[in-house]
Amino acid sequence: MAYDQNNIFAKILRGEIPCAKVFENDHVLAFNDIAAKAPVHVLIIPKGAYISFADFSQNASEEEIVSLNRAIGEIARAKGIVETGYRVISNHSEHARQEVPHYHVHLLGGKDLGGCFN
Ligand code: 5GP
Repeated sequence: MAYDQNNIFAKILRGEIPCAKVFENDHVLAFNDIAAKAPVHVLIIPKGAYISFADFSQNASEEEIVSLNRAIGEIARAKGIVETGYRVISNHSEHARQEVPHYHVHLLGGKDLGGCFN
């Protein structure tokens, strides 16, 4: 499967669609989910064109991988949810119902999120 340059997150990265930006560096952009499922629901995405975790973990540079993972922790600290807890999720392809084919991580917190596998 080839990367779709017209997916929503690619448009956000090109500035064609607005987003509520939370964090940005050379490799990473993070913004609030448009349909937040919790008081904190941030999407963290690489700036590079990767479809999913499988693609990112295989093809991204170590600098990109470290940068994205550090950003998740930094945003959690900035949002004040480290003490109370949070959840990090990434959906890959059909069985996980990935909607947007640009790799992204959901960071959720700010309330009791319930059990993940109930
Ligand atoms: P997925 O199911 O692919 O893991 O999640 C995609 C997420 O992107 C969903 O939680 C959805 O609400 C969010 N989303 C879809 N379109 C937009 C958009 O245009 N802007 C923002 N900020 N989030 C979006």
